[in-house]
Amino acid sequence: MPELPEVETIKRQLAPRMEGRVLESLEVLDPRWCEPAHPGEVADAVRGRRIEAVRRRGKYFVVELEDDVHLVVHLRMTGNLLLVAEADDEPGRRHLRARLVLDDGNRVLFVDQRRFGTGIVLLGTPALEDYFGARLGVEPLGPDFTPEALRELASGRRAPVKAFLLTQERIAGVGNIYADEALFRARIHPLRPVGTLKRPQLAALHDAVVVSLEAGIDARGATIDDFRDADGARGSFQDRFLVHLREGEPCVRCGTTIRKLRAAGRGTYVCPKCQPRPRKRRV
Ligand SMILES: [Zn+2]
Repeated sequence: MPELPEVETIKRQLAPRMEGRVLESLEVLDPRWCEPAHPGEVADAVRGRRIEAVRRRGKYFVVELEDDVHLVVHLRMTGNLLLVAEADDEPGRRHLRARLVLDDGNRVLFVDQRRFGTGIVLLGTPALEDYFGARLGVEPLGPDFTPEALRELASGRRAPVKAFLLTQERIAGVGNIYADEALFRARIHPLRPVGTLKRPQLAALHDAVVVSLEAGIDARGATIDDFRDADGARGSFQDRFLVHLREGEPCVRCGTTIRKLRAAGRGTYVCPKCQPRPRKRRV
């Protein structure tokens, strides 16, 4: 499932090729992509408008169009955005859900095998802010994500730290891969209640989240199942995982065998020595 670094990778590729162009048309081939809105309604709202900016917020893409119209796209499980030059054939037709045609003839294809990906149109900045305000917390690579901000978010909470990191309403964009990598870097067990972490541990976790996400972006994302960037290339972060998917292999720091457990309902990888289990509390 694409997380923040994968979405950021695609955004960085698409932005220079989309910004300043006119969106000639949006063809929705699968009505589920934009439901409950009608495909024709969505197409009419964006057609012929200049693309002012392409941004990312959490795991969402935002195509900002003139007159304060926003096309908000989420890849969910298996969605990809592929850029196809005017002269080139379109790959992956079978799973094509939507097609954006630019005025230079280039196309951006939304391809999605499992069909959970979405596209919606929001009219006006307040609508956009409301939409994200209800869904997304602090942006982990933005200026508001500080050790103090993390401490405030964590304060008094009993949720296991891994579940906390995966909650998009608190920190936007962190998913299973980057939560595992960050907890390993910070030497924190995923089942530790987040409100019990001490100040230095929260500071370490803050830094580890940022470093892990930036490492993912540097590697142009992780390709485990079918993530491809906007040019159809695979990411390479899966070759640099410290613990994620490394069950049975030695810890890069201490050599102890990496174990797999379940946390927040997800397969979770830890070094049992570097990330000691929380002690049971006595009653
Ligand atoms: Zn270790």
